[in-house]
Amino acid sequence: MANSCDILISGGGVAGLTAAVVFGDAGVDVICVDPAPPITVRDAEGADLRTTAILQPARDLLEPCGLWDRFAPYAAPLQVMRIVDAGGARPEPRIVRDFNASEVSDQPFGWNLPNWLLRRELVARLTDLPNVDFRPGTGTTSLFTRQSEARVGLDDSSRVKARLVIAADGRDSPMRQAAGIDVHTTRYGQKALAFAVNHSVPHENVSTEIHRSGGPFTLVPLPDHNGHPSSAVVWMEHGPRATSLFQMDQPDFEAEMTERSCGLFGPLTLASRRTIWPIITQKADRMSGERIALMAESAHVVPPIGAQGLNMSLADLRALLDLALARPEGLGDMQMLDAYHDARIRDVALRAQGIDLLNRASMLDARPLRDARAAGLDALYSLKPVRRTLMQMGLGVR
Ligand SMILES: Cc1cc2nc3c(=O)[nH]c(=O)nc-3n(C[C@H](O)[C@H](O)[C@H](O)COP(=O)(O)OP(=O)(O)OC[C@H]3O[C@@H](n4cnc5c(N)ncnc54)[C@H](O)[C@@H]3O)c2cc1C
Repeated sequence: MANSCDILISGGGVAGLTAAVVFGDAGVDVICVDPAPPITVRDAEGADLRTTAILQPARDLLEPCGLWDRFAPYAAPLQVMRIVDAGGARPEPRIVRDFNASEVSDQPFGWNLPNWLLRRELVARLTDLPNVDFRPGTGTTSLFTRQSEARVGLDDSSRVKARLVIAADGRDSPMRQAAGIDVHTTRYGQKALAFAVNHSVPHENVSTEIHRSGGPFTLVPLPDHNGHPSSAVVWMEHGPRATSLFQMDQPDFEAEMTERSCGLFGPLTLASRRTIWPIITQKADRMSGERIALMAESAHVVPPIGAQGLNMSLADLRALLDLALARPEGLGDMQMLDAYHDARIRDVALRAQGIDLLNRASMLDARPLRDARAAGLDALYSLKPVRRTLMQMGLGVR
């Protein structure tokens, strides 16, 4: 096995695997390691049942490297983002506002895909790329850097020399810690349940976000499942309530989620296991260090609102790729990594701040504050230029 490469990617989650394909397709020698082999079957234990809405700019990155052609047959387009305020006395919609992609583009906002399926297609694409050495079952353990290179220790006792290390090893990133880069973490005492549902009323490519208290309840379109309309749900709640929902018997849970969805899609029935995720905002102090670039959750974690998480990660990847292609001889040097930090840090901070604000507004319990939230939504929506700007910012094209 080779013990040197241009780029060592620590982490083979969706972000790390995408980085491996994108750089592999660009002709760069890549080693990608992950101690946990990817689970690529929907109903297997441990499968990632979250979905990712891939927004327009991310698709532009995925097209040239052959990934989009693989994803497209399974993708559900998102034409409208519907925001519903149900913060009144009863769980009923009192304000419904549609943000239609046609106001800002001739394309949908994005395309929704299950994470387990993204992993399956990413791993399949890697097999076409002989310059990418993917090593599932192997993790990184140590990092030693000099100005000219990085040396990474692996848990099979081997060592790899690389010009650049990309840390895509998640929110507790061992490589970020080894590089001594600190993070700032905000906790909300909140968790998200993620699962798939079937429903009788078709979604018509509308993503619906319902606000009452505890956090948003979001239904994102999926292709039909077992011949019935289907959506991915992310249901955010205060921690103890989320845990009790997670443990609830299926019929009781289905009744609870149908009520929380205000019955907008008819009775909801579970179409997958339930998974549960802690919700935090976390930002690394820097996007890079000597011979190392942080990307995805290693650099930033945000609550799942507005489909920003992985899309921010793909914006990290775009920035790294552009810098690497502009000056191949400088791969991983200080000039490149400082430029990467400068290119990303403000956008990450702005998005993390905006999502934090939206999440706090959605969590509100007190009625007067919920009323103020509804009035705020109405005011923002009714100003067309503001509405358009919000949509463009959400997409990442502004
Ligand atoms: C409920 C929910 C819904 C979401 N919905 C959306 C959405 O609609 N759109 C969107 O853009 N984002 C969404 N997100 C965010 C998105 O899912 C994440 O940003 C993304 O999956 C995280 O990817 P990642 O690769 O950074 O991290 P992870 O998936 O955590 O991957 C990190 C990988 O690193 C590996 N690793 C750990 N230690 C080591 C080591 N020592 N060496 C090597 N590898 C190691 C792990 O095994 C893991 O495979 C959502 C998040 C949640 C919680």
